[in-house]
Amino acid sequence: MQLIADYHTHSVHSHGTGTVEENVAAARRRGLWAVAITDHGPANLFGLGMKAPEVLLSIQKEIQQIEGERPDIRVLAGVEANIVSGDGDLDVPDDLLRDLDVVLVGLHPMVRYRSAADALRLGFLNLAGRASEALYRRGRETNTRALEEAVTRHEVDIVSHPGLHLSIDTERLAAACAAVGTALEISAGHRYMTPEFVHVARAAGAVFAINSDAHRPEDVGNLEQGLAVAEAADLPAALVLNARHG
Ligand SMILES: [Zn+2]
Ligand SMILES: [Zn+2]
Repeated sequence: MQLIADYHTHSVHSHGTGTVEENVAAARRRGLWAVAITDHGPANLFGLGMKAPEVLLSIQKEIQQIEGERPDIRVLAGVEANIVSGDGDLDVPDDLLRDLDVVLVGLHPMVRYRSAADALRLGFLNLAGRASEALYRRGRETNTRALEEAVTRHEVDIVSHPGLHLSIDTERLAAACAAVGTALEISAGHRYMTPEFVHVARAAGAVFAINSDAHRPEDVGNLEQGLAVAEAADLPAALVLNARHG
């Protein structure tokens, strides 16, 4: 399988170290056909997210400028939006999402939730689940439902790093994603994914994207780890959005 795009990279607009231009240059060096800039939405705590959703507009402008210079690579404006409630609310308004080329949605542990009740449901349950099996199961249920709602209520292209830090029911999430045409990410940047995840998700009808989640230009297009998981699971290129087809 040959991968020709990386749809998940961070720049200085959230907590990546490279500028948009540096990520694009790195993707070109890797010989990619396309690269997406998908910075964190504003809800990540500790300054890890973009300052406000409107930062997406300046990222789009920067990309237009780069595209104006006619580089031999496609540059996509995107975001990695945060889920901020148990009902799948996101930290980026839908009208901004609609203007983007690529929308990723992910569950992250340290975010500003919509309400105290959501902080309790998502934040606390996942923390407490480390100590109690019953709370772990409730946390897993809440996480899965929040993601199902998010992909159903919003136009989402890819769920980023499913199950990283926050446990999910892969089969249920994959079925919800399959119903609305959302892909599941095989993350090359976090070494936790297994062929088993791919088997279960594929059986439920999911398609996939293999992305780096690069936080520095050196990692843009570094997809080896994800490719290894996909190949160990015998995943055909036809089910991977960013693979060369035919
Ligand atoms: Zn993430
Ligand atoms: Zn990310």
